[in-house]
Amino acid sequence: MNEGRTEDLIIVGGACAGYTAAVYAARADLDPLLIEGFQWGGQLQNTTDVENYPGFPEGIMGPEMMNRFRAQAERFGTRFVTDDATRLELSDGGIQKVWVGDDLYRAKTVILAMGAQPKRLGIPGEMELGGRGVSTCGVCDGAFFKGRDVIVVGGGDTAMEDSIFVSKYADELTVVHRRDEFRASMVMQDRARETENIGFKTPFAPEEFLAGDNGALERVRLRNTESGEVEEVEVGGAFVAIGHIPGSELVEGQIDLHDNGYVMVEEPSTKTNLAGVFAVGDLVDFTYRQAVTAAGSGCRGALDAEWYLRDTPPTDEEIKAAVEAEVAS
Ligand code: NAP
Repeated sequence: MNEGRTEDLIIVGGACAGYTAAVYAARADLDPLLIEGFQWGGQLQNTTDVENYPGFPEGIMGPEMMNRFRAQAERFGTRFVTDDATRLELSDGGIQKVWVGDDLYRAKTVILAMGAQPKRLGIPGEMELGGRGVSTCGVCDGAFFKGRDVIVVGGGDTAMEDSIFVSKYADELTVVHRRDEFRASMVMQDRARETENIGFKTPFAPEEFLAGDNGALERVRLRNTESGEVEEVEVGGAFVAIGHIPGSELVEGQIDLHDNGYVMVEEPSTKTNLAGVFAVGDLVDFTYRQAVTAAGSGCRGALDAEWYLRDTPPTDEEIKAAVEAEVAS
C-alpha cells in the first residue's frame, strides 16, 4: 500500500484515450499516474498501417503510433505503472482506489480508459493471419483490399457498416452470417443490400482461415450451420465484425453501464454517475471506435478531471479520514 499519498489523478488504461488524457493532464500540472496495463497500446498494438490518423500523411504503424503517444505523455511528466489494474473501488466524490495486485493507489479523481476488444471467432488461422488478410476493422483496413474478393463475418450493424465501407475498395464482398435473420437495423441492411457488389451467404459460419504459399490469407472454410455441409471459398480478405467487448469488468456493479456493458457518460462530457470518475475512449463508445475519436475523448476526460479538481475535489479532511480508515482496517 502507498500509505499516505493521494494522487490528484489516476488514469486506467494505456492506449489512445488514456495517453491523450495523460498528455493534457500532465500539461495542466496534475502529475497524473497512468496505470497503462502490461500489454499497453490497446488495439493499435495489433494493427499494421494506420492511414487515417490526421498528421501522418505517409501513414504510421500502429505500435509506433502508440510509442509516440506514450513518449508524449512521458515528456510532460506522466508516471507509468506498466501492469494491469486488478481491482477498483470507486466513490461518489470521495477517494478513488485502484489496486495493481497488492499495491493500492488512491486518487481524488480517476479517468477510466480501459478500451474494448473486438470479439473473435476463435477458429484456426484467425490470429495467425491477423494483418495478413484477416482484420477486425473495416474502416481501418478496407483500403488495403482494393480489387480483392472479401468476406465480412457478422450480422449486426458493425458488419453492415464495415461491408458498405469496404465495398468501395473490394471487387466482390460477401457478408457471411450464421443465421438467415440479421440483427442489424433495417436501414443498415437495406443500404448493404442496395450496394451492387455486396452479396449475402447464410446460414454459414467460418471454420478456418487458410493461408496460401505467400503466408497470406487465401481461402476460408465455411460450414452451413443448418445442414453441416462444408465448403472452401477463395478470399483475398476477411473482416471479422461480430461485436466488441468493453473492458468494464472491473467497474461492473459500481457504476452505471449500458445494457451492452459500455460505461454510461453524460454526453458530451465524460462524467459518469459518480462524481470524480470519468470515462473515455472505446470504453464508452460503441459507435465510432476510431483512434482519433478515442484521443479526442481522452482530451475531454482530462479537462473534465481538471475542472472537477478545481471546483469540487474531496477536501483534505475527507482525504485524511479515508486514509486513516484504510490504515486502520
Ligand atoms: P451485435 O449487434 O452484437 O452483432 C454481432 C453479430 O455477430 C450478430 O449478428 C451475431 O450473430 C454475430 N456473431 C456474434 N458472435 C459470433 C460468432 N462467434 N460467430 C459468428 N457470428 C457471430 O454487434 P455490433 O454489430 O458490433 O453492434 C453493437 C452495437 O453497436 C449495436 O447496438 C449496434 O446497433 C451499434 N452500432 C451502430 C452503428 C450505427 O448505427 N451506425 C454501427 C455499428 C454498431 P447472431 O445475430 O446470430 O447472434
